[in-house]
Amino acid sequence: MNLSELQKKVMELANEKNWGTKPDDVIFAEKLALLHQEVSEALEAYRAGRLTGKDGVQEELADIILRTLHLAGVYNIDLEKEILKKIKLNYDRDWSNDQLYKDRDLRNKNKPR
Ligand SMILES: [Mg+2]
Repeated sequence: MNLSELQKKVMELANEKNWGTKPDDVIFAEKLALLHQEVSEALEAYRAGRLTGKDGVQEELADIILRTLHLAGVYNIDLEKEILKKIKLNYDRDWSNDQLYKDRDLRNKNKPR
C-alpha cells in the first residue's frame, strides 16, 4: 500500500467518523494543534521508555501520520507527491551553509569540557 492509498483510507475513516473531509468541515489551526499533541505524546512516551504498545512511541508516530494524512486530505494535498518533491529538494540542497549547522557548531564550541 502506498501513501496515496493510505490517505484514501484515512479519508474514508474521516468520513465515517465525521472528522471532516473538506476545508469547511474543519478548523485548520485545531487540526494542526491536534497533530502537535500527537508529537508531544510521542515525546512523552519516549521519555517514559514506552516504545511499543498502547500509547507507546510506535502508536504515537502512527497518530502523527494519520493526522497529517487527514489534514492533507481535507485540503486535497497529494502528500505522496509533496514528500517525493521534498526528498528531491533535500538531495539537491547544500546543507553546508545552513544556519542549523552554524548554530550547532557554535553550541559545540561553547560546550564545557
Ligand atoms: Mg496519540
